[in-house]
Amino acid sequence: MNSIDPTSSPTPTTASRRSFLRCGVATSLLAWTGFAAHGAAKEPAVVTPGATFSHGALPPADAVVLFDGKDLSAWQTNDGKPPAWKIENGYAEVRAGGITTKESFGDIQLHLEWASPSVVVGKDQGRGNSGVYFQGRYEIQVLDSYENPTYPDGQAGSFYGNAAPLVNASRKPGEWQTYDIVFHAPKLGADGAVIPGSFTVIHNGVLVQDHVPIKGNATTAAPAKGVVPTGPLHLQDHGNPVRYRNIWLRKLN
Ligand code: MG
Repeated sequence: MNSIDPTSSPTPTTASRRSFLRCGVATSLLAWTGFAAHGAAKEPAVVTPGATFSHGALPPADAVVLFDGKDLSAWQTNDGKPPAWKIENGYAEVRAGGITTKESFGDIQLHLEWASPSVVVGKDQGRGNSGVYFQGRYEIQVLDSYENPTYPDGQAGSFYGNAAPLVNASRKPGEWQTYDIVFHAPKLGADGAVIPGSFTVIHNGVLVQDHVPIKGNATTAAPAKGVVPTGPLHLQDHGNPVRYRNIWLRKLN
């Protein structure tokens, strides 16, 4: 038996052909302009995480500690100045621009903890938005995605504009959340073609990105573009007072 039964599909109407053509043209334009096509993926199911996972995880012996709750001396603003983020009670709170590590990295294992504001302001992408940009260009989204609908490839745990999380493992506003992320950078082959890298992301102990390919296209609002061997980590200021604590990584190459 044929796997495709011609009798099961209605003959395309002129209208549906036109619709298909419009979608095709739109998709081509999106690809050409570099804008991600949001909204195609279905809403990830909610999985309530356990009460704790890697909260307060101590850095292993070979880790690079980027923020231990005391100072942001490993970081700088985009124009090379000391960050103006508020530091208190072991966390740093977003303000006055994104911050970037002074050191650059290739493949890494990253641990960090974040909390969206406990007082909910805004909705959709305007609620608890920040982000972790690997090599300053590939964003794992930070967003208050607790009962806050948005396009799936823009919610917490998404590879922004590229891949929705497998599930929504968000905690409530103001609660500390953990990201444990393995990042392999895309590379340029000898022929100049991109050899994809990958993201594996665990959000609050729940796998949300499972070895998802990174094909070298920087995400929207990325401060840097292009495929590079090493690049800095960047934390986004999207106008919301998101908090971070306990940030460390291990170099994998
Ligand atoms: Mg963001």
